[in-house]
Amino acid sequence: MEVVEKTKISGAEWEIMRVVWTLKNATSKDISSVLQNKMDWKPATTKTLIGRLVKKGALITENEGNRFIYSAAVSEEAEVKNAAQSILQNVCNRKVGETIADLLSEATLSHDDVALLESILEEKKLTAVDEVPCDCVPGQCTCQHMHG
Ligand SMILES: [Zn+2]
Repeated sequence: MEVVEKTKISGAEWEIMRVVWTLKNATSKDISSVLQNKMDWKPATTKTLIGRLVKKGALITENEGNRFIYSAAVSEEAEVKNAAQSILQNVCNRKVGETIADLLSEATLSHDDVALLESILEEKKLTAVDEVPCDCVPGQCTCQHMHG
């Protein structure tokens, strides 16, 4: 499995991205004021994180007079999907089901969410295999010991 990570937004940077995705265009002051209560960052911290995101290509900077306006260069949907997939890339293929089950059992879900998941599971039943093949490097999981 190939790891595709272009931007790779880190923990604290997600806080910034979520504000920019919501506001569409934001100054560092806008971002600071949204996160003020939640994060208790100094303005310099916010600016450092914004700078990193610009460098990573996740944020676009525009000059408006003497202000910098930031907007997102990557979509929220795509980034959330990437982040979710990268979690699953960190476990053995055989543990993916268990990992998803853990996430699922801890989530608060609406009736619509449950219906959506049920329909996906119904489809998955049609293509389920007896044993998920492990493609780990020997030494990174214990599957080979049990089956090799
Ligand atoms: Zn494995």
